[in-house]
Amino acid sequence: MEKMLVFGHKSPDTDTICSAIVMSDFQKKLGKEVKAVRLGELNKETKFALNYFGFEAPELISKIEEGQEVILVDHNEFSQSVDGIEKAKIKMVVDHHRICDFNTAEPLYYRAEPVGCTNTILLKMYKENGFEIDKKLAGLMLSAIISDTLLLKSPTKTDEDEKAIKELAQITGVDYNSYGLEMLKAGTDLSDYTAEELIALDCKKCDLKDKKAKVAQVNTADITEMMKRKADFEVAMEKDIKTNGLDIFVFVITDILESNSQAIVLGESTEIFEKGFGKKLEDNTAFLPGVVSRKKQILPVLQENA
Ligand code: MN
Ligand code: MN
Repeated sequence: MEKMLVFGHKSPDTDTICSAIVMSDFQKKLGKEVKAVRLGELNKETKFALNYFGFEAPELISKIEEGQEVILVDHNEFSQSVDGIEKAKIKMVVDHHRICDFNTAEPLYYRAEPVGCTNTILLKMYKENGFEIDKKLAGLMLSAIISDTLLLKSPTKTDEDEKAIKELAQITGVDYNSYGLEMLKAGTDLSDYTAEELIALDCKKCDLKDKKAKVAQVNTADITEMMKRKADFEVAMEKDIKTNGLDIFVFVITDILESNSQAIVLGESTEIFEKGFGKKLEDNTAFLPGVVSRKKQILPVLQENA
């Protein structure tokens, strides 16, 4: 049996990758050996952060064996987790999402808090245990919180996230505003991705009552530029809808500087979106002023209106 594995969700984002690395450090400080792994390719924002603070990417895995001991970070829904998760031994979860489709055969540690980022919870765990956080690790945790809160501009941000950012910036010795902007901008360089890659880069599967849905999101500094590729996105989305039997696919292009989003919506059940946002789609698309958070501003709206 391999040693205990720690990982975040599929389509990994910066919080998911950093949480896995930070959790493995935390476990080491507790005297336990665990290995951080990942379930997909790194995005450019995450690469930037790892590179900046001198970390290697965790090893890529695609499935796990029956009985494998695991720690889940930054997710709990099995549909977002590794293939084979149903038969794993989940020893611990640290997360900041709704709890859904989750059950285990044995007792476990489960820590969920409604804050903006898993690393905000991890910071508390270090403090509760009196563990020191070195400069490099603080930089990683800082990057994750900046990413999940869009540099404190997302409505998912809490006072605890803001305090954590300031504290971690002090430890690591960077100006969090200028570093944060640089890191977020690194993630908006999407020119060399194909349309298929872009709709899969940060994509969450979710069930809306009896409807199968995917909601994908990309960050940009220029929505107009991204929308020039709308026809290509639509082809890729249609293909995904057919292959995976989806009822609705929502692709959200978020302007991280202006805090708005443009959605492209396809499928048989687009009325869920139209009803939820009180908008008629025009040419499969709608502008969503002030919407930046999938978790807080999009998924609940779709869930309530399915
Ligand atoms: Mn995440
Ligand atoms: Mn997160």
